[in-house]
Amino acid sequence: MKWIVLGTSSGRPTARRNVSAGVLARDGEWLLFDCGEGTQYQLLRTDLRLSRMRYVFVTHMHGDHVLGLPGLLGTLNLARHDRKVTVFGPPGISRYLRDVFRATYFRPTFPIDVTEIDAGMVLETDQFTVEARRLNHRVTAFGYAVHEKARPGHFRIDDAMRLGVPAGPLYGQLQRGEPVTLADGRTIVPSDVVDADRPGLRVAYCTDTGPTDAAVELARGADLLVHEATYTIEMVEEAEARGHSTAAGAATVARDAGVGQLLITHFSPRYEDVTPLLAEARAIFANTIAARDLLEVRVGPDSRPMD
Ligand SMILES: [Zn+2]
Ligand SMILES: [Zn+2]
Repeated sequence: MKWIVLGTSSGRPTARRNVSAGVLARDGEWLLFDCGEGTQYQLLRTDLRLSRMRYVFVTHMHGDHVLGLPGLLGTLNLARHDRKVTVFGPPGISRYLRDVFRATYFRPTFPIDVTEIDAGMVLETDQFTVEARRLNHRVTAFGYAVHEKARPGHFRIDDAMRLGVPAGPLYGQLQRGEPVTLADGRTIVPSDVVDADRPGLRVAYCTDTGPTDAAVELARGADLLVHEATYTIEMVEEAEARGHSTAAGAATVARDAGVGQLLITHFSPRYEDVTPLLAEARAIFANTIAARDLLEVRVGPDSRPMD
């Protein structure tokens, strides 16, 4: 599983940074978080295939997070996309898409399911769940947390053979966690032949927001927290007035939530060089990296940038 940064600039793009969007890629399909203007152009610069996009999660209705969505959906149409795309977002997202579609004579040839969410569980598939919580911004904004479900532990065939378990249905029973009794009366328990479940990975995405308990709750125990850090601490009053975080604020959320790694993003265009933001965050939460456009971060106990 990896996180791919598509845009890192707050409000408007700069020559080197596009506005907000990020992708969580797993097993050949991917989830899009936010879709600022130009996101589809950034996608062209990755190896992601548009046809594998299933879900879009929009945090809030500010333009730097949603203005790219109609264009991206339009491109899917031109590519004769035929799988359903599900969009989750705050109240207002349905009317926004409906009005743009109508005004631009856009008729999707594939199903687009738009759901206006409230806080809580917004999606459950057989492989992961997605939870939303209300953040602390000037307009209604949601953060999201993706929790992969635990994956079954590795079945040790060598041990099963050594213990004389015949191949076949008994393997399945043991894999499902049930003890089995062999023909000679011996009982084999799952832990004799199956490793413990592998915990699922967790990623939280919190932007735009001031530091808030909701972000801490979303990020609790996450392998990777993607959190906005619009300003340095010198600008804390501006941050509070505009519903944004300083780098120190983002790092405090990461520390309080006990995450594995923090990825800061959504930088004010005033910072051409984000080194001061990174240093400020690292003083509070050492395992912090600064996002840059098209950076890929492997998600896991050993989260790190993939260069
Ligand atoms: Zn923003
Ligand atoms: Zn905003």
